Amino acid sequence: MLFRCSVPCCLRFELSNFPLMASSISHDPSSSTSLFNLQSQQSIFGYKDKVNDFEKTQLRVPASFREKAANLQMMASGKTPGLTQEANDCTYEAKIDRDNVFDDMKQRFLAFKKLKYMDNLEHFEKLADAQAPKFLVIACADSRVCPSAVLGFQPGEAFTVRNIANLVPPYESGPTETKAALQFSVNTLEVENILVIGHSRCGGIQALMGMEEVDSRSFIHNWVIVGKKAKESTKAVASNLHFDHQCQHCEKTSINHSLERLLGYPWIEEKVRKGSLSLHGGYYDFVNCTFEKWTVDYGGSRGNHEGSGIAVKNRSFW
Ligand SMILES: [Zn+2]
Repeated sequence: MLFRCSVPCCLRFELSNFPLMASSISHDPSSSTSLFNLQSQQSIFGYKDKVNDFEKTQLRVPASFREKAANLQMMASGKTPGLTQEANDCTYEAKIDRDNVFDDMKQRFLAFKKLKYMDNLEHFEKLADAQAPKFLVIACADSRVCPSAVLGFQPGEAFTVRNIANLVPPYESGPTETKAALQFSVNTLEVENILVIGHSRCGGIQALMGMEEVDSRSFIHNWVIVGKKAKESTKAVASNLHFDHQCQHCEKTSINHSLERLLGYPWIEEKVRKGSLSLHGGYYDFVNCTFEKWTVDYGGSRGNHEGSGIAVKNRSFW
């Protein structure tokens, strides 16, 4: 991406990007770079909420962005960063080297190769021939809720499908990638557990709860409407609550509706009935960092019909 602009434009570019960069640097104890006082920036530029939101996410910013922030700091102080001679000519080209965003990724991969792959070579050689995961995990595509990062699944342990709002479509509907993953993992890989994981502040659930009607042009609307019954259940019992609490209610209700829907797949229901497959729900609250887990009680659920709920057992909080 290439920005061409005059000095005033550059200044706007700097100021609009400083908040993120400054807050990122302030969170990196190893960084020797310090921008001007963060507190002052907050009062000058009025982005306190943005900084706080950033702090809550605890995101790491790649070194390439920290380097860029350092260059911009020099620009702001009137010094000339060595990399931007054009600035003296009242022109600044902010070149974002796309390859740089992979620098940290490369280091993480090399660390994985050295510390995990090479140290467990025999295990990975077996995985090269075949996989035999015990779990199918259905989780949200949200970048904050990676099940491998949160629950520690290692390569070969969990066949994973991620979609917006971790929804399971009904058996009767048309083909989707989630249904293909279900068929392959249950019938070919013969996983022993299906774990549907929902999470706090789910944007997909917020979209579901917030939309008045389905916009046929919206891929998002046409997907999250899969959770329509969870929305209706939530509205029936929690419509008096604040919208955020309604969403939280729907996040959890939707998981059970997905578990219930899984029993509508005849080859899943058969395995659950025979005891070779178990269905589990999980709810990851990343605001408080808690995880709630439960298991479908198939015996207690028999006789229930779609929309009437399922029985659960072995509920635990981590
Ligand atoms: Zn989500």
